[in-house]
Amino acid sequence: MGVFDAVMTKTYDVIVVGAALNGLTAGLALGGHRARRPLSVAIIDRKDPRQALASNDSRASAITASSKRMFEALGVWEHVAPHMQVMGEIIVTDGRGPEARPVLLQFGEAGSGLATSAHMVENHHLLRGLLDAVEKSPNITLVTGHAVAQQSFAPGLAKLTLANGEQLSCSLVIAADGGKSPLRQAAGIELVGWSYEQMGIVASFDHALPHGGRAEEHFTPAGPFAVLPLPGNRSSIVWTKDTAGAKRLLGLSPQEFETELQNEIGSHLGKIALLGKPQGYPLSMFFAKEFHATRLALVGDAAHVIHPLAGLGLNLGLRDVAALAECVADALALGQDIGGLAVLERYSTWRRFDTVATAASMDGLNRLFSNDNSFLRILRDLGLRATNQMPGVKQMFAREAAGQTGSLPRLLRGETV
Ligand SMILES: Cc1cc2nc3c(=O)[nH]c(=O)nc-3n(C[C@H](O)[C@H](O)[C@H](O)COP(=O)(O)OP(=O)(O)OC[C@H]3O[C@@H](n4cnc5c(N)ncnc54)[C@H](O)[C@@H]3O)c2cc1C
Repeated sequence: MGVFDAVMTKTYDVIVVGAALNGLTAGLALGGHRARRPLSVAIIDRKDPRQALASNDSRASAITASSKRMFEALGVWEHVAPHMQVMGEIIVTDGRGPEARPVLLQFGEAGSGLATSAHMVENHHLLRGLLDAVEKSPNITLVTGHAVAQQSFAPGLAKLTLANGEQLSCSLVIAADGGKSPLRQAAGIELVGWSYEQMGIVASFDHALPHGGRAEEHFTPAGPFAVLPLPGNRSSIVWTKDTAGAKRLLGLSPQEFETELQNEIGSHLGKIALLGKPQGYPLSMFFAKEFHATRLALVGDAAHVIHPLAGLGLNLGLRDVAALAECVADALALGQDIGGLAVLERYSTWRRFDTVATAASMDGLNRLFSNDNSFLRILRDLGLRATNQMPGVKQMFAREAAGQTGSLPRLLRGETV
């Protein structure tokens, strides 16, 4: 008797491993209450995502226009909308210090006619919205508290065993299990990429003066420093430092950190007051050599991790989810095997070019700016200043950042699958 035969196996059409932002979205796209032909879906996580709601996670995400349309189509945005902040204006500066920050690029400023289309949302509000939508979806089962301990991917059926011995089988497994993806490793899929030897420090704070919906990205020699608007007189930062510099900042007392942050931001937001404990995330860039294996598709950080300087990581994962959901829905409509090779190859081909192109541009920008080479500084300042004078080129950048270029899956156009 095989190890899978001793206990009763529960069967689903699709199993998603990872109940964080990408995994929950994948579950909703295929089995949610708004799906046209909902499949039976299990979403598995070793942790209960509801516990993450109570944790001190101060991360916030810049949600592009197309990702917002996807959340609307899935019935998630209605939960999120009361908590979002419109990012009305974006400035990019060459940041040598709060008093010397020449503006290189500007989007959405009054009178420019170039509206920005991103929204800032704290991750815990997104998570809650996704969980609320999952709870409304009778075809989705959330299985939490136990990691996947064993997997078998046969041409006919995929089977998973959880750490508590529970067994599940399905036609397609979606790995949304994060950057270290145990499923990707078990499938023997290799990575291409590197560590930046940098950390992104994330924190949020109150401030005395209004931000006016303006997001700031300062390219400092130590790395990009982003100040992102949240609802009310609150903002969030992603402060990139080399690892030693980041560890020093994270080791400061809250008062000392607040003082250094105030110095870095300058005075235009008035006096700041830190909210919660700053957190540090080691930064790297990698993508999986393959986005699929037998009956397995990788999405989100399991497939790629990019530098957070443009806040595109989650949005890239949501593009994966939208493309995969469309490939699966089309196969279903044609009576094809939803976990078959044709579906998985179509998905991989669709997503690989966009992923590599986005990862490479974030990597190039980080390398171009994270140094104090005076020749490079002159070159990049001239280049970006020239771009700022050309509305057509700026519009192209804005459309790219809004996720409105390339071959958009139906969900990202706001249509259900
Ligand atoms: C500093 C920083 C700032 C960022 N800012 C932005 C931004 O502004 N905009 C943006 O778009 N992106 C941003 N990102 C990127 C974004 O946060 C990530 O891309 C996204 O959160 C990844 O989500 P995920 O669901 O793919 O993976 P994860 O959030 O890593 O979730 C993986 C899940 O899988 C579960 N899991 C793992 N292994 C197993 C197992 N064996 N069995 C069961 N469960 C398992 C884990 O418990 C976890 O819940 C930022 C990233 C960083 C580091």
